[in-house]
Formats: sequence, structure tokens, C-alpha cells
Amino acid sequence: MAGIYLHIPFCKHKCTYCDFTSFPDRLSFAEAYMACLYKEIELRGEQLGSYTFDTVYFGGGTPSVIDPTYIYGAVKQIKRRLRLSKNPEITIEMNPGTVSEKKIAVYKRAGVNRFSVGLQTAIDSQLENLGRIHNVRDYLYCASLLKGENFSADVMLGLKGQSKEDVRKTIEIAAESGAKHISMYALTPEDGTPIYTDYLNGELPDGDEVARLYDYGRTLLKEKGFSRYEVSNFAKKGFESKHNLNYWKRGEYIGFGVSASSFMCGKRFTNTFDLDEYMKCVLSGFLPVIESEDVKEQDAKFEFVMLAMRTVYGVNAEEYRKAFGSDWKEDFRDAYRKTSRYLEEENGATRIKDEYLYVQNQILAEYMN
Ligand code: SF4
Repeated sequence: MAGIYLHIPFCKHKCTYCDFTSFPDRLSFAEAYMACLYKEIELRGEQLGSYTFDTVYFGGGTPSVIDPTYIYGAVKQIKRRLRLSKNPEITIEMNPGTVSEKKIAVYKRAGVNRFSVGLQTAIDSQLENLGRIHNVRDYLYCASLLKGENFSADVMLGLKGQSKEDVRKTIEIAAESGAKHISMYALTPEDGTPIYTDYLNGELPDGDEVARLYDYGRTLLKEKGFSRYEVSNFAKKGFESKHNLNYWKRGEYIGFGVSASSFMCGKRFTNTFDLDEYMKCVLSGFLPVIESEDVKEQDAKFEFVMLAMRTVYGVNAEEYRKAFGSDWKEDFRDAYRKTSRYLEEENGATRIKDEYLYVQNQILAEYMN
């Protein structure tokens, strides 16, 4: 299994917590940028001739802020230059403040069959504090346009003044609006973002409080029929994200666009983060890669275990043996011994017990050593 990621780095406005590669002041470059993205796909085309890709993911930034015909064109270019499997999963991230019936119709014509909507919270004052351009009414309008479609809603925890009641309201709105998948993740206050000041001032909930909100949200999601399949991801049966599952299975993926990263043929590589450099490079016929490294076997083994432990499927001993020719419990003997009380076995796989999945980072730190 292999995936394709396309980065659309434009937004209407920079959110207060955002440290993603997004350029709110460069929207007028969208047409030129997309032409470069098509060109990058062409440049890679030949090298990737032996691959069949099962998933395509438009992430950002805000892919839904640009003219939808550019998304249509990107899918067309992928089909022309690369090989897609018969029924690929094609996802687009959408900001509820940028959607319209016409846009969704064009996405569907392009073959998009999964939508990821950034709700974040159902409390308008919190959305405003995050610098989001949408409010709850915009989300509900977006969800009404997506009625019957396979769509996911993002929910954020750890917001200023956020209570359990706020989390309940958010999850209920997401579930009742028809989402088949919910990603629930904690806000990370990154140094250099405006929200970092709130963090320094002690205005954001601390780690224990966020863990309590998470546990509360997890229980509520379960009651509503969403099963957790990864630490931050919950889905109705059969609606898990194939694209993300490929990452956690350490599958290969190719990234296009500014700042996009890739993992192919045992190498991890990353494109430039500079928009002008990206465009100049591609227009001159060069790949915009700035960093590339071969993954050493020891790192590959750790990645395999770390990624698998994020999911409820855990580390499959047979798959590990197939990949590396050894027994993972032997390769990580000390770490396994120290952490075994947090683990459980099922069908040849070892996973973190449900109640400890949220604190997996502490458990996995043992494996890093
Ligand atoms: S919409 Fe997403 S990418 Fe854009 S500024 Fe907000 S958080 Fe960043």
C-alpha cells in the first residue's frame, strides 16, 4: 500500500496556534503554485512508474480555500502521471469557513470521496480565540452539504477555558451532524505562535486536565459508536482513514508541494519550506528536496514499533519478522520487559492497553533507548 500527499499552503488567516506551512498573505499565488505542483508530479512520474497508489490526501493549509478546479486538475494530473488503484481513497481537508455547494460538487467530480472538516470546537468564543475564520453555524452548513458523505470532523482539546461540557457539546454536534470519523487531539502550544503566550501565562489547561478531557471524550465517542483505532482517531466501523493507517503501518508515501515529506525506498525526504524556492526549483525542472536520509535499520525497527503502538492493532510479530527477519521482543528486550505491564496480546499482536494508550509517549520512550 502507498499514499500520495499534496500540500496546499494557503489560508485566509493565520490561526493563533498554527505553525504549519501556510501563507495567508499569498493566496494570489495559488494558480502559479498549483501549476508547479502539477509539474512536480510530472517530474516524479517516471521514478514512480512501478507504484500503485491507494490513497490521495489534500492537506494544508486550507485546500478548500483555492478554486476547486485546481483540485480537479491535480487529481487529473495524478491519474495522467502516476498509477492509482481501482478505488482509491481521496481525501480533502476543508475549513468550514470556505465551503460552498459548488466546490463540493467539483471535488466529487474529481473523485474526492472523503472530507476532513476542521470543526475544532462547537463553542464560538473558543473558535474566535483560536483565530479560526468559521463559527459553529458555518460548520453545520458544511455538514449539511456533506450529508451522506464520508466525512471526518476535527475536535481539539486543551483550549482556554474548555470544560467537559464544552467537549460534550462539540462531540455531540460532530456526531449528530453525520461525521463518520472524529479526530480528537490536544492543542500543542508551539513557541512563536500567539497562543504560546496564553500557555506561558498558565491560561491553558495543564496536561492532567487535558488527559481528563480526553478520557471524557473517549467515553462519549464510544457511546456514540465511534471506536478508537489510533490514539487521536475514532471511527464508525469501516470508516477508518486508509491514508493515515498507511503512515502508522510504515507504508510508503510520496509528498508533493512546499514542505511535503515522503518515505519511499527506505529514504525519508522533505521538500523546501520556502514557497518562492519551491516554485523556482520546480519551474527549473528540479525536484525541490532539501533533506534526504536513508533510514538505518535500527531506526526503521523503532519506527515500526512506535507507529504500530499508536494504534489499537499493535505490533504484529509476523509482520515485523517479515520486514526485518527478527523477533521484535528480542530486538527490544529491555524495553519490552520494562513496559510489559502496560501491554496486552491479541491474535499475534502486542498493543498498549486501552487505558494507557493516551500516555503512550512515556511508554515508547523506553523503546527509543
Ligand atoms: S487553517 Fe490550519 S493551516 Fe491554516 S492557519 Fe489555521 S491551523 Fe494553520
